[in-house]
Amino acid sequence: PNNQRFSLAIAIRNTIKMMTPNLDAVGVTLIHDLTDDPLEIYGSLAYMEHVILNLMNNALQALVSSPQPQKEITIRTKYQDKIILQVSDNGPGIPEAVKAKIFTPFFTTKNDGMGLGLAIVKSVVTSNGGNIMIFDNPDRGVTFQLEFPIMEPNG
Ligand code: ADP
Ligand code: MG
Repeated sequence: PNNQRFSLAIAIRNTIKMMTPNLDAVGVTLIHDLTDDPLEIYGSLAYMEHVILNLMNNALQALVSSPQPQKEITIRTKYQDKIILQVSDNGPGIPEAVKAKIFTPFFTTKNDGMGLGLAIVKSVVTSNGGNIMIFDNPDRGVTFQLEFPIMEPNG
Protein backbone atom coordinates (compact mmCIF):
# COMPACT_ATOMS: atom_id res chain seq x y z
CA PRO A 1 0.00 0.00 0.00
CA ASN A 2 1.21 3.44 -0.95
CA ASN A 3 2.62 5.97 1.43
CA GLN A 4 0.69 9.17 1.05
CA ARG A 5 -1.36 11.67 2.99
CA PHE A 6 -4.57 10.16 4.22
CA SER A 7 -7.28 10.89 6.75
CA LEU A 8 -7.05 9.02 10.02
CA ALA A 9 -10.73 9.85 10.47
CA ILE A 10 -11.56 7.78 7.37
CA ALA A 11 -9.40 4.89 8.58
CA ILE A 12 -11.32 4.95 11.87
CA ARG A 13 -14.71 5.15 10.17
CA ASN A 14 -13.89 2.17 7.91
CA THR A 15 -12.60 0.15 10.85
CA ILE A 16 -15.67 0.86 12.98
CA LYS A 17 -17.85 -0.33 10.11
CA MET A 18 -15.91 -3.59 9.90
CA MET A 19 -15.92 -4.19 13.67
CA THR A 20 -19.46 -3.19 14.64
CA PRO A 21 -21.15 -6.54 13.82
CA ASN A 22 -18.51 -8.43 15.85
CA LEU A 23 -18.95 -6.11 18.82
CA ASP A 24 -22.76 -6.31 18.66
CA ALA A 25 -22.60 -10.10 18.50
CA VAL A 26 -20.90 -10.33 21.90
CA GLY A 27 -22.60 -7.41 23.60
CA VAL A 28 -19.68 -4.98 23.63
CA THR A 29 -20.70 -1.32 23.42
CA LEU A 30 -18.62 0.94 21.19
CA ILE A 31 -18.38 4.52 22.35
CA HIS A 32 -16.92 7.07 20.00
CA ASP A 33 -15.68 10.49 20.80
CA LEU A 34 -14.26 11.71 17.49
CA THR A 35 -13.12 15.22 16.68
CA ASP A 36 -14.29 16.91 13.46
CA ASP A 37 -10.77 18.10 12.64
CA PRO A 38 -9.10 16.85 9.48
CA LEU A 39 -6.77 14.21 10.87
CA GLU A 40 -4.31 14.09 8.00
CA ILE A 41 -1.31 11.86 8.52
CA TYR A 42 1.30 10.25 6.33
CA GLY A 43 1.57 6.55 5.57
CA SER A 44 -0.70 3.81 4.31
CA LEU A 45 -4.46 3.93 4.86
CA ALA A 46 -4.74 0.14 4.56
CA TYR A 47 -2.00 -0.48 7.13
CA MET A 48 -3.56 2.04 9.49
CA GLU A 49 -6.89 0.25 9.23
CA HIS A 50 -5.07 -2.94 10.25
CA VAL A 51 -3.54 -1.14 13.20
CA ILE A 52 -6.91 0.08 14.49
CA LEU A 53 -8.50 -3.33 13.84
CA ASN A 54 -5.75 -5.02 15.84
CA LEU A 55 -6.20 -2.68 18.79
CA MET A 56 -9.98 -3.07 18.75
CA ASN A 57 -9.69 -6.83 18.39
CA ASN A 58 -7.36 -7.09 21.38
CA ALA A 59 -9.79 -4.97 23.39
CA LEU A 60 -12.66 -7.19 22.28
CA GLN A 61 -10.83 -10.39 23.24
CA ALA A 62 -9.91 -8.96 26.64
CA LEU A 63 -13.56 -8.08 27.27
CA VAL A 64 -15.03 -11.34 26.02
CA SER A 65 -12.90 -13.37 28.42
CA SER A 66 -13.82 -11.10 31.32
CA PRO A 67 -16.85 -11.76 33.57
CA GLN A 68 -17.97 -8.15 33.98
CA PRO A 69 -21.48 -7.32 32.72
CA GLN A 70 -20.76 -3.89 31.22
CA LYS A 71 -18.25 -4.18 28.36
CA GLU A 72 -17.12 -1.07 26.54
CA ILE A 73 -14.59 -0.02 23.95
CA THR A 74 -14.02 3.69 23.49
CA ILE A 75 -12.40 5.17 20.42
CA ARG A 76 -11.38 8.79 20.77
CA THR A 77 -9.46 11.30 18.69
CA LYS A 78 -7.94 14.61 19.72
CA TYR A 79 -6.35 17.33 17.67
CA GLN A 80 -3.93 19.29 19.86
CA ASP A 81 -0.23 19.86 19.28
CA LYS A 82 -0.39 16.34 17.86
CA ILE A 83 -2.99 14.06 16.36
CA ILE A 84 -4.04 11.57 19.02
CA LEU A 85 -5.99 8.34 18.67
CA GLN A 86 -6.99 6.37 21.76
CA VAL A 87 -8.50 2.90 21.88
CA SER A 88 -9.66 2.10 25.43
CA ASP A 89 -11.42 -0.83 27.00
CA ASN A 90 -12.81 -1.46 30.45
CA GLY A 91 -11.51 -5.03 30.58
CA PRO A 92 -9.08 -6.64 33.03
CA GLY A 93 -6.08 -4.44 32.15
CA ILE A 94 -2.47 -5.54 31.66
CA PRO A 95 -0.13 -6.43 34.54
CA GLU A 96 3.15 -4.45 34.56
CA ALA A 97 5.29 -7.52 33.88
CA VAL A 98 3.19 -8.34 30.81
CA LYS A 99 3.18 -4.74 29.59
CA ALA A 100 6.94 -4.83 29.24
CA LYS A 101 6.67 -7.61 26.62
CA ILE A 102 3.56 -6.95 24.58
CA PHE A 103 5.39 -5.31 21.65
CA THR A 104 7.82 -8.24 21.36
CA PRO A 105 7.09 -10.43 18.32
CA PHE A 106 5.43 -13.75 19.26
CA PHE A 107 4.69 -12.69 22.83
CA THR A 108 1.14 -13.71 23.71
CA THR A 109 -0.85 -14.65 26.81
CA LYS A 110 -3.55 -16.34 24.71
CA ASN A 111 -3.73 -20.09 24.04
CA ASP A 112 -4.37 -19.47 20.38
CA GLY A 113 -2.55 -16.13 20.08
CA MET A 114 0.11 -15.36 17.49
CA GLY A 115 1.63 -12.51 19.44
CA LEU A 116 2.31 -10.52 16.30
CA GLY A 117 -0.48 -7.94 16.41
CA LEU A 118 1.14 -5.32 18.60
CA ALA A 119 4.62 -5.85 17.15
CA ILE A 120 3.18 -5.03 13.72
CA VAL A 121 1.09 -2.18 15.12
CA LYS A 122 4.20 -0.59 16.59
CA SER A 123 6.25 -0.94 13.44
CA VAL A 124 3.50 0.58 11.26
CA VAL A 125 2.97 3.47 13.67
CA THR A 126 6.66 4.30 14.01
CA SER A 127 7.27 4.01 10.27
CA ASN A 128 4.52 6.63 9.87
CA GLY A 129 6.41 8.95 12.19
CA GLY A 130 4.13 8.16 15.13
CA ASN A 131 4.40 6.82 18.64
CA ILE A 132 2.45 4.29 20.67
CA MET A 133 1.99 4.18 24.42
CA ILE A 134 -0.21 2.44 26.98
CA PHE A 135 -1.99 3.86 29.99
CA ASP A 136 -3.98 2.20 32.73
CA ASN A 137 -7.46 3.66 32.90
CA PRO A 138 -8.45 5.21 36.23
CA ASP A 139 -11.27 2.69 36.71
CA ARG A 140 -10.63 -0.47 34.66
CA GLY A 141 -8.75 -1.60 31.59
CA VAL A 142 -6.16 0.05 29.39
CA THR A 143 -5.83 2.74 26.77
CA PHE A 144 -3.57 2.38 23.75
CA GLN A 145 -2.64 5.85 22.53
CA LEU A 146 -1.21 6.61 19.10
CA GLU A 147 0.32 10.01 18.41
CA PHE A 148 1.17 11.47 15.02
CA PRO A 149 2.73 14.78 14.09
CA ILE A 150 0.51 17.40 12.47
CA MET A 151 1.51 17.80 8.83
CA GLU A 152 2.40 21.09 7.19
CA PRO A 153 -0.22 22.30 4.59
CA ASN A 154 1.59 20.99 1.38
CA GLY A 155 4.49 19.29 3.17
P1 ADP B 1 -2.12 -11.67 20.51
O1 ADP B 1 -3.38 -10.86 20.42
O2 ADP B 1 -1.97 -12.64 19.40
O3 ADP B 1 -1.91 -12.30 21.86
P2 ADP B 1 -0.82 -9.09 20.45
O4 ADP B 1 0.56 -8.68 20.03
O5 ADP B 1 -1.95 -8.44 19.75
O6 ADP B 1 -0.87 -10.66 20.32
O7 ADP B 1 -0.99 -8.80 22.01
C1 ADP B 1 0.00 -9.30 22.90
C2 ADP B 1 -0.56 -9.47 24.31
O8 ADP B 1 -0.88 -8.18 24.85
C3 ADP B 1 -1.87 -10.24 24.41
O9 ADP B 1 -1.64 -11.64 24.40
C4 ADP B 1 -2.43 -9.75 25.74
O10 ADP B 1 -1.82 -10.40 26.82
C5 ADP B 1 -1.95 -8.30 25.79
N1 ADP B 1 -3.00 -7.33 25.43
C6 ADP B 1 -3.07 -6.60 24.28
N2 ADP B 1 -4.12 -5.78 24.29
C7 ADP B 1 -4.76 -5.97 25.47
C8 ADP B 1 -5.93 -5.40 26.09
N3 ADP B 1 -6.66 -4.46 25.48
N4 ADP B 1 -6.26 -5.84 27.35
C9 ADP B 1 -5.54 -6.79 27.97
N5 ADP B 1 -4.41 -7.35 27.44
C10 ADP B 1 -4.03 -6.96 26.21
MG1 MG C 1 -3.75 -9.30 19.03
